[in-house]
Amino acid sequence: MSATVLVVEDEPQIQELLAVNLEHIGHQVVRAGSAEEAEAAIRKALPDVLVLDWMLPGESGLAFARRLRGDARTRDLPILMLTARAMEQDKISGLEAGADDYLTKPFSPKELAARIKAVLRRRAPQLSGDAVEAEGLRLDPATRRVSANGQRVELAPSEFRLLHFFMTHPERVYTRAQLLDHVWGDHVFIEERTVDVHIRRLRKALAATGHDRLIDTVRGSGYSFRTD
Ligand code: CA
Repeated sequence: MSATVLVVEDEPQIQELLAVNLEHIGHQVVRAGSAEEAEAAIRKALPDVLVLDWMLPGESGLAFARRLRGDARTRDLPILMLTARAMEQDKISGLEAGADDYLTKPFSPKELAARIKAVLRRRAPQLSGDAVEAEGLRLDPATRRVSANGQRVELAPSEFRLLHFFMTHPERVYTRAQLLDHVWGDHVFIEERTVDVHIRRLRKALAATGHDRLIDTVRGSGYSFRTD
């Protein structure tokens, strides 16, 4: 599992500790010392997960989390709140503000890794690194292998990511713009029609075993991965 983690922490030593530990387990880390800096970083590129300290100079982590939840672009951004407070009431306020989970200082690197993984598994299952299977179709992110009824399927990187996203988000309809955001990353300027090209290639690769039927065109809306 490899994700881009935005660490928002004003204490240099804790920021360093978080960054080193996250990089050690294979994540890319972007650092910010305040909500303002974090906001600028998010404008540039949306991270996969946010590790957000509660006590920050200026706007608090709590207020920032609430604001992120109110914005369509960051509504689903996974947030792991970091705090020195261990009081029950504070945890409730944080969860109400939109944090997905909590980490209380001091924390162990093992706990940090486990919490990050749990948050990603819930909010962004395509980043968890677990193999997924549906209707005889199997995709393993660790080996980057796809098979259909036991037969190897060769996919280009874009089609692989697209199928991975579909398989971890079944039965939901995604517009072309949403697929671009999720699969190619936001702030990537690709025409929406490009999505159709990749869908066509993916279907072609899956056609030999009839698995192309799982990728459904939803007229006027977009695409959906549907199991029988
Ligand atoms: Ca702090």
